Amino acid sequence: MEIKQQITALRTQLREHNHNYYVLDNATISDYDFDMKLKELQDLEAKYPEFHDPTSPTLRVGGMVTKNFETVVHGQRMYSLDNSYSKEDLEDWEKRIQKGLGDIEVEFTCELKYDGASISLTYEEGKLIKAVTRGDGFQGDNVTTNIKTIKSVPLQLKGDYPPKFDIRGEIVLPFEGFAKMNAERLANGEDPYMNPRNTASGSLKLQDSAAVAKRPLDCLLYGIVGQKTGITSQWQMLDKARDWGFKVPAVARLCKTTDEVMAFIEYWDVHRHDLPYETDGVVIKVSSLQQQDELGHTSKSPRWAMAYKFKAEQVSTVLNEISYQVGRTGAITPVANLEAVLLAGTTVKRASLHNADQIAKFDIREGDTVFVEKGGEIIPKIIGVDFSKRPQNSEPTRYIDHCPECHTELVRTEGDAKHYCANYYGCPVQITGRIQHYISRKAMDIEGMGSETISLLFQEGLITNYADLYTLTKEQVMPLERMAEKSAENLVNGVAASVNIPFERVMFALGIRFVGETVAKKLAKAYKNIDALMIATEEELTAVDEIGERIAQSVVEFFENETNQETIARLKSYGVQFELSAEKLQNQTEKLKGQTFVVSGVFEKVSRDELKKLIEDNGGKVGSSVSAKTTYLVAGAKMGPSKRTKAETLGVQIISEDDFLGLV
Ligand code: AMP
Ligand code: ZN
Repeated sequence: MEIKQQITALRTQLREHNHNYYVLDNATISDYDFDMKLKELQDLEAKYPEFHDPTSPTLRVGGMVTKNFETVVHGQRMYSLDNSYSKEDLEDWEKRIQKGLGDIEVEFTCELKYDGASISLTYEEGKLIKAVTRGDGFQGDNVTTNIKTIKSVPLQLKGDYPPKFDIRGEIVLPFEGFAKMNAERLANGEDPYMNPRNTASGSLKLQDSAAVAKRPLDCLLYGIVGQKTGITSQWQMLDKARDWGFKVPAVARLCKTTDEVMAFIEYWDVHRHDLPYETDGVVIKVSSLQQQDELGHTSKSPRWAMAYKFKAEQVSTVLNEISYQVGRTGAITPVANLEAVLLAGTTVKRASLHNADQIAKFDIREGDTVFVEKGGEIIPKIIGVDFSKRPQNSEPTRYIDHCPECHTELVRTEGDAKHYCANYYGCPVQITGRIQHYISRKAMDIEGMGSETISLLFQEGLITNYADLYTLTKEQVMPLERMAEKSAENLVNGVAASVNIPFERVMFALGIRFVGETVAKKLAKAYKNIDALMIATEEELTAVDEIGERIAQSVVEFFENETNQETIARLKSYGVQFELSAEKLQNQTEKLKGQTFVVSGVFEKVSRDELKKLIEDNGGKVGSSVSAKTTYLVAGAKMGPSKRTKAETLGVQIISEDDFLGLV
């Protein structure tokens, strides 16, 4: 009995400290003391497993690994928001609302639009039961084990919470934590992450929750859905959520007029850069829930809410130099090296220039003062030149005509905006780029090896193509810089394990120009093994669904090349998969050949993804929107009404889940 009390007391204290620190930003205990208490609790829990509690603060450190995230249907759909960009847009919206509601008083709750990954949390009896990503709005992925590691997500609520409800919010990665993560990556020789938003949403799908626990993610909440919550307005909702222990930013404001709304927007357009996390606008919501109910939804978004998007920020700075990068396919990308300038809260030194045409279009020259804009990505773009500041002796940019890495003359094929270094087998950056692509996560997913290692192995003359990876020995690898025995072993084992990667991924890993993940799958499915594919002609290839001339030509060229043929023969001899697995072959038919399906709504027996897979495995095609080419619309529950109308107008047959399963 005494032990149980001790455990409960520790849990309560640690919860309170977590809340103070992560939600209220107001710590009342030193990190050291916190860690000591946590350790004490961990020890007790280990010793007395009978007192296990899934909401214990000790579970925050993660450790559970999720291989496949289960698909979960949202109790209530997660909608998108309509966007507006001006005061006029907002006034129009307000007029529509007033018209919809009759001339009664309307109050608006203004909140910031947090830029991260949407999440829906389910609580029962005050305990976090489930966390699901937005997915397509109807159903998402169950990422509960990962979400539990985010310290500002309460595992156990306090106060007068309702017995069961969902709460929606955004998982964000604050700038400071993001910068720290990138500094660490760079120090480890890894590529930095692009931006906080993508990194936040990528984090949710990491398999190892301990890795998620290490990321300084935050969860900001904005909406409760559920029956009998006793809540009558959006404004009250925010307050209640705070009371129960959720992190709800305090900047929200209740406004009575469009002028007040505009004042809120103008203020935050400037001051958002002082916030610790990224925001891309303001969300304005009709506050009364009853009025929200009356206004309802369109097929895509609530009529009672509107996002106001901030304009991308712009600055001008001097372009010091244009440099050129060579990619793994030999494509040349020009890069603008800028005089460092502060833009949207970060220091910008480089901007991408895309290609020669873009430089010519804006007549961008070294020494120019250029306008730089930042959209969603970390790499900003140049949107123009300040010609008034052009130096007198300025000369037009002469695009390079030789590869900066291997000095081979560049080529440009018609219809392609990029220049290429055609020295496919000799250009060092292309060689290492291809091997780096081969080992990457979506390709052969070889663990224990990074881009840096590949460069080192190449410099040491140990590898010149990806087949060489398979003959590397521990003894060869160990002398490399920063390589310990254990990591050398991991590397060799990682390579050996890659022989189990299925054929379609091997197809992608080969790095054939224009053959991305989807095309690789298509080719693998159509030809079933590499021998058949290697002798396919351009004509045969273009007959395959979605394979165009450009791809066909590139595939034929790749396999005609003797070096490639040799490499493939070698990979084969090492056991790399060059045919579809028996299991995949077995489940494939041509039953739906020539038919195009559009899938909409929620299904009972199979998930949407499974349904799509069934269509493809049986030779059918999955379309994204209903058109005259659609053969069937497979309708699930809660299908969007616009799809139905469109199908009916075009005479497209609408079938149920059972009808479909009957077909296959
Ligand atoms: P969009 O994806 O542009 O249609 O915008 C909708 C998304 O904005 C939702 O899925 C939310 O995750 C996100 N969002 C961020 N902040 C808020 C907020 N304060 N209120 C509602 N949605 C928000
Ligand atoms: Zn080159």
